[in-house]
Amino acid sequence: MKCSICGRDAVYYAKYEGRFYCHKHFNELVEKKVKQTIRKYHLIKRGEKIAVGVSGGKDSVVLLHLLHKLSRKFPFEIIAITIDEGISGYRPPSVEIAKKNAELLGIEHRVYSFKEYIGFTLDETVQIMGDFEKGERVGACSYCGVWRRWLLNYASQDVGADKLAVGHNLDDEVQMFLMNILRGDVARLGRTGPYYEIIHEDLVPRIKPLREIPEKEIVLYAILNNIEADFSECPYAVEAFRAEIRDWLNEMEEKHPGTKYQILRSYDKMFPLLAKTYAKRDLGRCKICGQPTTGEICKACNFKLQVHEKAKKLGLTFRIE
Ligand code: SF4
Ligand code: ZN
Repeated sequence: MKCSICGRDAVYYAKYEGRFYCHKHFNELVEKKVKQTIRKYHLIKRGEKIAVGVSGGKDSVVLLHLLHKLSRKFPFEIIAITIDEGISGYRPPSVEIAKKNAELLGIEHRVYSFKEYIGFTLDETVQIMGDFEKGERVGACSYCGVWRRWLLNYASQDVGADKLAVGHNLDDEVQMFLMNILRGDVARLGRTGPYYEIIHEDLVPRIKPLREIPEKEIVLYAILNNIEADFSECPYAVEAFRAEIRDWLNEMEEKHPGTKYQILRSYDKMFPLLAKTYAKRDLGRCKICGQPTTGEICKACNFKLQVHEKAKKLGLTFRIE
């Protein structure tokens, strides 16, 4: 097959638009979509400092490379942040990959670990809290997600970033949209979307420059451009609901190319209304950590206290701040 633009050998067929792309024009396709996403919603302004959350996985590493490329033409500052949740066998190699990529691009890189800033690794938390099947604890992803969000915000403030860029791709975004619709949690859809709202002076706005790029294109971009990334899966990733939605979406996309983009467009049209209703909340400050929260104590500190209590009962001592 030949590239629909230049006639060279094609490396990719974008079924949703019926076009073939050679390596050069595939790169341009991805880069153009990221540029347009940023421009359309003014996600990055000239001279800003952007913290990029880099786990070492394909999405975040590709994001780092794409933003680095963009920052050479349109000056803004980048700093890479990695959260080390403390998941043995899985996280150490990906932290190394994040570090290598940052080094390669000459970008400052900092690692913030659960152990240091929360007091427990995720592995320790799971061990302390007990059996998920017996209902002794919530799923590992619940602790992980809450603490990671908290620590990413802390880290972004710590490095003095104006925005935090995360590697959510088109598939993540559409899955998240459908999951929240199916769970009836539309409020959540008003807090994160195509653009950011300033919700609180201490909540660093999150931007998602890859939300228009299908996962497939991110994988191919990494491979074609020899970008080293971690493709392994977290041992705790057993979210059956998300997997069902992902499979259904892929099936629909196969039968009706462009479905994912159509769903994304619907979300984007609804977002201003959702944001108006749900984004602004009366946020106070957590009595323990001072971070913005709706209650007296934020969810991250709540989890920390629960784990600490349980550890004490078991006769284990951990440092807690
Ligand atoms: Fe954390 Fe769950 Fe993601 Fe693993 S799959 S990194 S536990 S949120
Ligand atoms: Zn707190």
